[in-house]
Amino acid sequence: MTAAAVRPHRLFFALWPGEATRRALYRETRAVVRHCGGRPVATDQLHLTLLFLGQVPGEAVGAVTTAAVALDCPGFTLVFDRYGWFESAQVLWLGCSAPPAPLPTLAAGLARQVRAVTGLVPDPKPFQPHVTLARKVRNPPQFPPPRPVAWPVDGFALVESVTAPEGARYTVLETFPIQSPV
Ligand code: ATP
Ligand code: MG
Repeated sequence: MTAAAVRPHRLFFALWPGEATRRALYRETRAVVRHCGGRPVATDQLHLTLLFLGQVPGEAVGAVTTAAVALDCPGFTLVFDRYGWFESAQVLWLGCSAPPAPLPTLAAGLARQVRAVTGLVPDPKPFQPHVTLARKVRNPPQFPPPRPVAWPVDGFALVESVTAPEGARYTVLETFPIQSPV
């Protein structure tokens, strides 16, 4: 086995937008992001975290993948229509005022599968679905809501986070299809 295969990976499961959704997320939020005074997330890094795993030993990555493959989930569409702000993290985010039930079901199912298949215990923080738009935002957003962005979800991704001096960079390692939205 190579050193790359056994080194630990900082991993999370996420919804990773397709090109059209990514462009729409950028287009509808860029003015607010410009005015929020924070550090914008690069457009090619926008995502919604489903489950944060943290450091996963290299030899356990295969089992994490197996856990995700076994998941059965209907497709769904998310509508992003509100801004929010995490005060402690100083994060400006985009969210859904009415997230559909399959979204938390998918996140909970992943947590259950990962625990069952790998024995890893993911962070039990409550699931707060959001797309981080900017960091180091010192004040709550006082902007009108964005024009709604529809995100049809037909899969999710296993993503690696690599910490760099200028901030984390995310790379999709693998994608997992789910049934197309109806
Ligand atoms: P940094 O930690 O360097 O500021 P980051 O938070 O963007 O960068 P990671 O910490 O690797 O990068 O996180 C990857 C993704 O998982 C991000 O979307 C982050 O918000 C989310 N995340 C990180 N920690 C947790 C956690 N404990 N619970 C839920 N989601 C988390
Ligand atoms: Mg972090």
